[in-house]
Amino acid sequence: MTRRASLLLISISLCLLVAVPAGQAQKKHAPGQQATGKATGIDDIALRNADLRKGEWITHGRNYSETRFSPLKQVSEVTVKDLGLAWSFDTETDRGLEATPLVVDGVMYTTGSWSIVYALDARTGKQIWKWDPQVPRRFGTKACCDVVNRGVAVYKGHVYVGTIDGRLAALDAATGKLVWSVVTVDQTKPYTITAAPRVVKGKVLIGNGGAEYGVRGYLSAYDAATGKLSWRFYTVPGDPSKPFESPEMAKAAKTWKGEWWKMGGGGTVWDSLAYDPELDLLYVGTGNGSPWNQQVRSPGGGDNLYLSSILALRPATGRLVWHYQVTPGDQWDFTATQHIILADLEIKGQKRKVLMQAPKNGFFYILDRRTGELLSAEPYVTVTWAKEIDKKTGRPVENPGVRYPAEPTQIQPGPLGGHNWQPMSFNPQTGLVYIPAQENFFVFLHDKRLDYRPGRWNTGVDFSIFTDPPTALPTGHLLAWDPVAQKERWRVQYPVMWNGGTLTTAGNLVFQGTADGRFVGYSADKGAKLWEVTIGTGVIATPMTYEIDGVQYVSIMAGWGGSFPLTGGSIGLPATPGRLLTFALNSKQSLPAVAAMEMPAVTPIEFTATKETIAKGAGLFAQNCGVCHGLAALGGGGVLPDLKLSAPSVFNKYREIIVDGARVDIGMPGFKPWLKPEDADAIRVYILSLRNELAKKK
Ligand code: CA
Repeated sequence: MTRRASLLLISISLCLLVAVPAGQAQKKHAPGQQATGKATGIDDIALRNADLRKGEWITHGRNYSETRFSPLKQVSEVTVKDLGLAWSFDTETDRGLEATPLVVDGVMYTTGSWSIVYALDARTGKQIWKWDPQVPRRFGTKACCDVVNRGVAVYKGHVYVGTIDGRLAALDAATGKLVWSVVTVDQTKPYTITAAPRVVKGKVLIGNGGAEYGVRGYLSAYDAATGKLSWRFYTVPGDPSKPFESPEMAKAAKTWKGEWWKMGGGGTVWDSLAYDPELDLLYVGTGNGSPWNQQVRSPGGGDNLYLSSILALRPATGRLVWHYQVTPGDQWDFTATQHIILADLEIKGQKRKVLMQAPKNGFFYILDRRTGELLSAEPYVTVTWAKEIDKKTGRPVENPGVRYPAEPTQIQPGPLGGHNWQPMSFNPQTGLVYIPAQENFFVFLHDKRLDYRPGRWNTGVDFSIFTDPPTALPTGHLLAWDPVAQKERWRVQYPVMWNGGTLTTAGNLVFQGTADGRFVGYSADKGAKLWEVTIGTGVIATPMTYEIDGVQYVSIMAGWGGSFPLTGGSIGLPATPGRLLTFALNSKQSLPAVAAMEMPAVTPIEFTATKETIAKGAGLFAQNCGVCHGLAALGGGGVLPDLKLSAPSVFNKYREIIVDGARVDIGMPGFKPWLKPEDADAIRVYILSLRNELAKKK
């Protein structure tokens, strides 16, 4: 393969039923619909029995099992054709929206970009309060995948949110006033929080992200009432010259080599958490290695515990009970932070308490959630990095050469994964899991430069080969997966990848928003398209549903943002405005219009440069800029500027912007000391060459 590998996949991200009969508890916590806005009834008993609150959605994945299955069925396969817009709410943002709203006591709690929290009347969408954490915009430079937030937790009258700059805040649910706030990370390091917190036994659980930039992952538990740190579980070992924080870290350190701690190690807990109250086990998905390339991270190999793993922790202490590593010695940005779903399934004639995950590496895993024993693992998308998962050892059987020791090597799935953070759902009536799946690949090449750049993109992978535009867009599909048989039951093909998470209901329905700007309802058993509305902006968030005063509502946050710098912009959909859309039967509000994306006139700008300088600029751009602005300068999904279209005056400021960081306040980092003024000049003439080509076409 040539160094100028052309790739289909352009962007790299990362840049995540059991209804326990409650007896007495059920009486005490009867499903209440009073719009008190106080949320004081959400305590441990309520959370354990979230499924009994049929009309509400009180925790991120609807219940501790994170099934995203609603028992509501007013909206059903028969009636869904009459679903129409009931209300919409403008989040005043042109950045990404990824939250799953919660609904408690008639109030909807959700988040927008920059970690802003909204409380809305769930019947009307009228704003009750809004809390803006005032995140300094320079923190945007640390967000691999836009300044997104996936939602809040509600507990005993408080609303909890993690902010993109690493704070955890408790707000008064009735007023939105700040009760307490703690900084959960070293803010001098490139940590971010995008996940929704979860509350287990009076502790607020929050992790963080940043493994592409060089950080050490951990999960923290804070006292819900006071914000005091209760425990912290590091997922990878630190500097062995200092005492290990836990026996788990001493054990993990034996699986690492070299001076791994200097680049952080990774293993960030940036999305998935699930809890089994009966077993009292908290399930945690951990992220990829930092840097990706193990030759750089841990030269000589090793499993590198606890990267890319599913961990079972005791929520009271944060002690590890068991672990299962889905990708030992991760080399490909294969996170296991994808959502974990708990269910009781009959496997080979035996009722088993299982845990299900479809991590990035392309295998669908079923574990015994008491012990971590692997019950089955089969590919749910095309997989080329491993032949199979050995059922005896529980380890992947890697194909030869996949660790790219020297040559560029094509791997499937790519770093965006066979499935990414967009949550899957499980319907106990059909027995199917609905996965927002995707087919994509990546060409890995060992980066020989080894120039670790604190606070910048550090993967140990050479991106400078990605200078050619893609020949086709990678595609996605909604996959209905039978977890017992480990087989596909049906699929709906989409033109592009990076579609939204899924909701499934007792009305035999599956809802999903799509990258190409639609919100669709399918029959859960057969995948027949029963309803569709054109939204006009790409959707990546996950729908949810609730019922108030006998009316079932279905809500989705719609807004593309910059979380995937290819698909939205390239298929001509605008990112803005971000909106929350809520539907109900026989509602007939019209969808607010979306202005068409305006393409500025492109005028050619003359320059002189040699072919070699332009080629050098192409390589530098791919290595340093492409992750946000789109490799081959395709643009950033309508949010991050398509640099080819900049106003002519901008091209006079490339040195100041790229090298000196003149635009750090709007999230564009400076690259001193890694790029010299003449490097900025080379990037400039590369972009100008693309601009002039575009101008010629128009
Ligand atoms: Ca990653």
